[in-house]
Amino acid sequence: MRPFTYQKAATAADALSAIAAGGAGTRFLAGGTTLYDLMKLNVEVPSHIVDINSLSESLWRAASQQLRNMASLGGNLLQRTRCAYFRGGEPFACNKRKPGSGCAAWEGINRGHALLGGSESCIAVYPGDFAVALVAFDAKVDVMGASGQRTIELEHLHREPGSTPHIETVLEPGELILRIRVPTTPLGRASTYHKIRDRESYAFALASAAVALQMEGDRVRDARIAIGGLATRPWRARGAEQALRGRALTPETARAAGDAALQGAKASRDNAFRIELGARTVADALMIASRRT
Ligand code: SF4
Repeated sequence: MRPFTYQKAATAADALSAIAAGGAGTRFLAGGTTLYDLMKLNVEVPSHIVDINSLSESLWRAASQQLRNMASLGGNLLQRTRCAYFRGGEPFACNKRKPGSGCAAWEGINRGHALLGGSESCIAVYPGDFAVALVAFDAKVDVMGASGQRTIELEHLHREPGSTPHIETVLEPGELILRIRVPTTPLGRASTYHKIRDRESYAFALASAAVALQMEGDRVRDARIAIGGLATRPWRARGAEQALRGRALTPETARAAGDAALQGAKASRDNAFRIELGARTVADALMIASRRT
């Protein structure tokens, strides 16, 4: 780890002044569960750190107890990919870590890489759970930066990699997430987050689905579906939602919605099995949610 200077911010305004004064090498520190990891690997080498822990609230029902004691909700939304070539440092080409250097994942082990939203430049999966559930519920984030406050729909917070995978969100440099807003909706009465992973704890999703339903008898009046672990950003599956509206929810229609959610999926060498896994995960999530109406 390289030396850096440290400063604790007491207010959001303090944090913004500090980030503006510190220049390009300055990073916000919330829980540190991503930043410290990447600093130990020399993937992130900040010259100055602005600690915003006194401004942020802890996760309550996500991750593990150890992480919940430390991590922040904003940091959870902005967590970086687990791609081993990104975290592996210099021996590996990685356009996200070093723009223009290439992408080792295309020729390497890509079992856990993205099937949706990828590009020739990058197929790294967005690893989080919380943002996927929030996207299903039309959440928004209020952010504050040098030019004031603005609101961003969570669905549009994360960018697909395109030719610039090192730019992961629409946040401007130095912008701070102030709060997350989740609208109330009758859909929340029949919802679930279904996550499939290699082991039950301390593992990222191979496929996940956040589902919320509003039923009229056995028919779906409205549906929200977002998928995780399969795409380069939290992925709203509007085609799958449309496939369900007005129809009876049965194992067959749930499976058709799962297939619609994975429409356009593009496999690389090792991950084709996750197209079927993703469709089944959505279908299972729909049936679980329907039993909660
Ligand atoms: Fe880097 Fe993205 Fe390729 Fe992984 S998938 S090596 S993060 S460019």
